[in-house]
Amino acid sequence: MATLTLDALNKRYPNGNAALHGIDLRVEDGEMIVIVGPSGCGKSTLLRCLAGLETISGGELKIDGERVNEREPAERDIAMVFQNYALYPHMSVAENMAYALKNRGVPKPAREAKVRETARVLGLEALLDRRPRQLSGGQRQRVAMGRAIVREPKVFLFDEPLSNLDAALRVQMRLEIRRLQKRLGTTAIYVTHDQVEAMTLADRLVVMNAGQVEQIGTPMTLYQRP
Ligand code: ADP
Ligand code: ADP
Repeated sequence: MATLTLDALNKRYPNGNAALHGIDLRVEDGEMIVIVGPSGCGKSTLLRCLAGLETISGGELKIDGERVNEREPAERDIAMVFQNYALYPHMSVAENMAYALKNRGVPKPAREAKVRETARVLGLEALLDRRPRQLSGGQRQRVAMGRAIVREPKVFLFDEPLSNLDAALRVQMRLEIRRLQKRLGTTAIYVTHDQVEAMTLADRLVVMNAGQVEQIGTPMTLYQRP
């Protein structure tokens, strides 16, 4: 659990594109924020800045009150789940899930226990020795989730994680993600262009436009006004 504070965040790409202008947002402990908005409004840029995959050009990002702007991705306690899953193709499911723990120097017995426990939670026990190409889309998505969860991060970031799945699986996975996020109590930011997904998952919705926060509120207050 953690609070995440974005204070006047700006992002300008090296080519001069100003993608974020003064983003202010406070995400509470255990809260799921869903970000929606038109293509090009800065949703992915925002997640990548939070994850440390892009540098922040101005403003301040804090986790539990502590500035993390300059921290490397691996030192941020933030895990990101990508649209294309971004699994390592030459590694097994277990190796994919154990990778971040191995990098961090977690001893092998502890890694294996953690990977097995996480696999159980996600129904992946029977697939631990498979390679990503031997998995269905839904199974790959679960492995991507598993890889994020094993790290026990303070914050989850989801970048349209279900958009490559078929409709039935999207519904199922969205419910699973909701259940897991609430059970683990991990603070989360979730980007989607699917309005139903946004309504189902969000504690609060953020509507972005042209690099700014345009509206923020619960799904009820934003969508059910007369
Ligand atoms: P969204 O995820 O909402 O579709 P993006 O964050 O991808 O929006 O893009 C926000 C803006 O930043 C767009 O104008 C886009 O063209 C620009 N942009 C994204 N990535 C880069 C980049 N690597 N270099 C320059 N401009 C970029
Ligand atoms: P190493 O490269 O350390 O010898 P392996 O290549 O066997 O280890 O596996 C890489 C990682 O995947 C290890 O950190 C281990 O924790 C994890 N792992 C491999 N197989 C399993 C399994 N069946 N159950 C749980 N974790 C596994």
